[in-house]
Amino acid sequence: MLQKNQTIQLTITDMTENGEGIGRADGYPLFVKDAVIGDTVHAIVTKVGKTYGFAHLAEIVTPSPDRVLPPCPLAAPCGGCQLQALSYEAQLRFKENKIRQHLIRLGGLDAARLDACMEPILGMEDPWHYRNKAQIPFGRDKNGEIVAGYYAGRSHRIVPMDGCLLNLPGFDRILALLLEHARERKIEPYNEADETGLLRHALIRQARGSGEWMVCLVLNGRKLPGADRLVSRLREIPGMTDISLSVNRARTNVIMGQEIIPLFGPGTITESIGDLKFKLSPLAFFQVNPLQTERLYAKALEYAALTGHENVWDLYCGTGTISLFLARRAARVRGVEIIAPAIENARKNAELSGIRNAEFYVGKAEQIFPDFCLKHPGEAPDAVVLDPPRKGCDPALLEALTACRPAKIVYVSCNSATLARDIRILGAGGYRLEKICPVDMFPQTVSCECAALLSAGTG
Ligand code: SAH
Repeated sequence: MLQKNQTIQLTITDMTENGEGIGRADGYPLFVKDAVIGDTVHAIVTKVGKTYGFAHLAEIVTPSPDRVLPPCPLAAPCGGCQLQALSYEAQLRFKENKIRQHLIRLGGLDAARLDACMEPILGMEDPWHYRNKAQIPFGRDKNGEIVAGYYAGRSHRIVPMDGCLLNLPGFDRILALLLEHARERKIEPYNEADETGLLRHALIRQARGSGEWMVCLVLNGRKLPGADRLVSRLREIPGMTDISLSVNRARTNVIMGQEIIPLFGPGTITESIGDLKFKLSPLAFFQVNPLQTERLYAKALEYAALTGHENVWDLYCGTGTISLFLARRAARVRGVEIIAPAIENARKNAELSGIRNAEFYVGKAEQIFPDFCLKHPGEAPDAVVLDPPRKGCDPALLEALTACRPAKIVYVSCNSATLARDIRILGAGGYRLEKICPVDMFPQTVSCECAALLSAGTG
């Protein structure tokens, strides 16, 4: 049995969701922060639990062949990028392997089947500067100066953002202007402990297609001192299209307040993916990596293999992005989403791109879809696209799917653990996994998306 404070030698063979290395001492897993897959390390045991423990990295004995110097000097304290110390090639292998392990362990698939249906991960040629949106909190540094940046891992201490390598170029200049303004006007950052101060977050977003910028400042109030001056300064930035305030007085982790006060511009910026256009308001959800989104949607569309005659559903449709892609190739698309303003966006986006064969419903996928199938037996779906949040699909929805049996289900997922669980449930209902393709939407972080195709077969 290991003892606390004992030093042991470990080889790191896996990594956790938080980017900690995992090594095994006689089969007993230990989590080691700052160690990466392939490292052999000396670690000091800090905690011994029943089934796993923690250890502190004391020394790297043999560095992993995949270890690289993180290009961002803030990679360790910031905690936003858990995988920067791994080469991009190794990051991709890690993600593929994680998805594979989930499908085997939680999905009940065998390795031979996976070899047959798993496509190579789609990575980025340049895995930096891909994020089109940042929501950056304001706070104070040790000297009481106002700063903005991400929270250090698992804490509420802000690491001042300085040339973040994930954001599209140009975010820093805007953030610097915002901070300069706050300093000049002595605007207080929000302090969540006593709910004082004004400035909570800056939402900065760029539409990659058009180059348009959006800035929205989240305030614990309704008025920004010197707003006119700030607007005229921001407008000097080429492409600055929309500037607004969001009012959020609640004590909450939710970043945006629902009330938007316009300061300049039409209230939206226009993003394009392929030949479709999307108007994004400060509150609208949109994937953060536009290049990889296009590839993910193309994969989903390839899997759906529509001929133009199908009845298709897009469940968990958000602002209707996937729905509109499907609509070009289907007879009819029905999108379902729980958030009403997202559906309003979806309808407007359909109009903007001249799409008339897409309808959208507000509500729970697990209610709307089964109800519809029951009431309209003549309009059986041919294909259903699912893109649920991290917790995966509701069992009632999976049950309804196996009952009304669309020939194809295309499952887009941001969490391969719940994807694997749902594939197992659908498998018991007669669906077979035909293809699965991981798409790296979030290089340098542990997250990964995938698209999977399941077919009802002949049974
Ligand atoms: N397909 C969209 C969004 C996917 S994110 C895109 O690619 O842009 C998942 C969406 O599911 C979110 O918009 C969330 O609001 C919605 N959602 C969560 N639970 C839901 C439920 N039970 N029924 C319908 N939509 C739900």
